[in-house]
Amino acid sequence: MEMETPKCAEGEVLIKVEACGICRTDMKCFSYGQRDLKLPRILGHEIAGTVADTGPGVTGISIGERVQIAPGLPCGKCDFCKRGWDHLCSSVQIMGFHYHGGFAEYVLVPAHGVKNGVLNPIPEGLSCTEAALTEPLACCVNMQESLDTGPGDVMLIFGAGPLGILNAKLARLRGVKQIILIEPNEDRRRKAKDREFDYCLNAYHTEEIRLFTQEKEINVIIPCCPGMEPFGQAINLLGKRGRLGFFSGLMGDHQGQADINLIHYKELSVCGAYGCSSGHNRTALSYLAEGKVKVKDMITRRIGLDEVMSGLEMVRKMSETSIVIEY
Ligand SMILES: [Zn+2]
Ligand SMILES: [Zn+2]
Repeated sequence: MEMETPKCAEGEVLIKVEACGICRTDMKCFSYGQRDLKLPRILGHEIAGTVADTGPGVTGISIGERVQIAPGLPCGKCDFCKRGWDHLCSSVQIMGFHYHGGFAEYVLVPAHGVKNGVLNPIPEGLSCTEAALTEPLACCVNMQESLDTGPGDVMLIFGAGPLGILNAKLARLRGVKQIILIEPNEDRRRKAKDREFDYCLNAYHTEEIRLFTQEKEINVIIPCCPGMEPFGQAINLLGKRGRLGFFSGLMGDHQGQADINLIHYKELSVCGAYGCSSGHNRTALSYLAEGKVKVKDMITRRIGLDEVMSGLEMVRKMSETSIVIEY
């Protein structure tokens, strides 16, 4: 629909959106709703663009500058914010959830977001389309900092969607030597073979995995897909003192059982990660700008704003890796 271009009040910044990613969260918001989603809302939280206007009192940001938006707008004052966990801020508000997001030509960044540093200048050499993938990468940074992944780990990832691939790319950067993938979708599994995975399986086969790791235990598992089943499998597959990343929120009814007692017997750790802090966001943007994590090969579809509905359908059908709207 046609909407008026928002006007900047005191402290606000207007962004002309240049690129916005569409992800599974948008599809979930659209189809099922989401805990933090307040309707009516323009979705889109993976936003990069150009500063089109600034309200009175805004300093340090100039019109024409390219910026990426960290979507969480923290209060900056509570204990969580002070500890750098601003995504857990008790009054955090999110672009595309509480405020209009990037599935529009212009997006208004509220004053408390601007003040708390959600606008990150995009370094030269990095396109807005690539910068739009900062947020999903930042969610992986959050996950893997909690899991403390590193050179000693044997990692298993469920799902070769964009987040599975980004987690694998990040794990490589953090020094993980062996990364195994379980992906039942043949097309996704075939494409993943040329990417960051050392061994790709279509399903959970304990014996095959043991052969591949030569009896080495898997000590980190990140399910990057919705559904309860991978959890039960992860608890079974993890070695002693293994770490499980609860990264993807469950969708629909949570069928399936997990042998929770194994967490006790094997002394497993379960880490949750939801979204990313402004610090994770800055780290992710620097990885992209410095070429430490390359995402160009993941952007398999670029669409126009008028194709958002078909973009959401592509996400549902899992026919692309990453889809970015370009304006
Ligand atoms: Zn997303
Ligand atoms: Zn706060």
